[in-house]
Amino acid sequence: VVSAVVPGRSARVARAWSVLQQVLDPEVPALSVCELGIVREVIDRGATLEIVVTPTYSGCPATEVIAQQIRQAIEASGLGPAQLRLQRAPAWTSDWISAEGQRKLREYGIAPPAGTCAEVAVSVGSIRRRSAPVTVPCPRCASSETTQLSAFGSTACKALYRCLACLEPFEYFKPI
Ligand SMILES: [Zn+2]
Repeated sequence: VVSAVVPGRSARVARAWSVLQQVLDPEVPALSVCELGIVREVIDRGATLEIVVTPTYSGCPATEVIAQQIRQAIEASGLGPAQLRLQRAPAWTSDWISAEGQRKLREYGIAPPAGTCAEVAVSVGSIRRRSAPVTVPCPRCASSETTQLSAFGSTACKALYRCLACLEPFEYFKPI
């Protein structure tokens, strides 16, 4: 991102990134699009700012909402018209959620993805084990005594769990 930019332009790009830090994910309003890791690149095209976004899940209806919010935020900050480019490869993975993003997820009452897809694929190597339930610690009391109630929560991106220690249900952001 920083390569081959003239100083004036990199300041514009840096300002765009700080604006994007304020754009919250509509599904998980605790997380910005940067913490979610979906903003891949900001490119100064002169007349426009090109924002490269990788949607979280191809079928996630939130993508259009996020795209619109990003455009509006950039334009409202006077950084010029924003042009969004959706980049679907490489696909977004929950590994891209920043450490700060994971902390905020927990505060919001959502268990962040446990492990990564890459880890799961490498460490178990069999399809049978891969679908084995993972331990999802409760975001409220950190107990590992939790059970899955439903494979789908409020969105397809999340599963519904219940903590057996504090008895609170919570959502789990599934790793992909
Ligand atoms: Zn609990």
